[in-house]
Amino acid sequence: MCTGDGLCEEICPDVFTLLDDGLAYVKEGADVKSAPGGAEGIAVVPAGMEDAVTEASEECPVSASSSKTTRYPRRASPNGARS
Ligand code: SF4
Repeated sequence: MCTGDGLCEEICPDVFTLLDDGLAYVKEGADVKSAPGGAEGIAVVPAGMEDAVTEASEECPVSASSSKTTRYPRRASPNGARS
């Protein structure tokens, strides 16, 4: 379960964001994918952000944004954010 510490957002703010519920979600620009667990909860990672997304996934203390949920070509899922 996401602890809301904000590490992923700090590392890669173009892809991860914290909402008022205290959980991290992925986003595409201003479009926050706040429905984890399905196709609508998956964001396309902007070109050049792959390494930052991987780092954010690896640094997540609870593996909520696990690299297992980071799929290439360039997709990231927040499904772990609520797991
Ligand atoms: S997804 Fe992980 S790194 Fe991001 S805020 Fe939640 S616990 Fe922290």
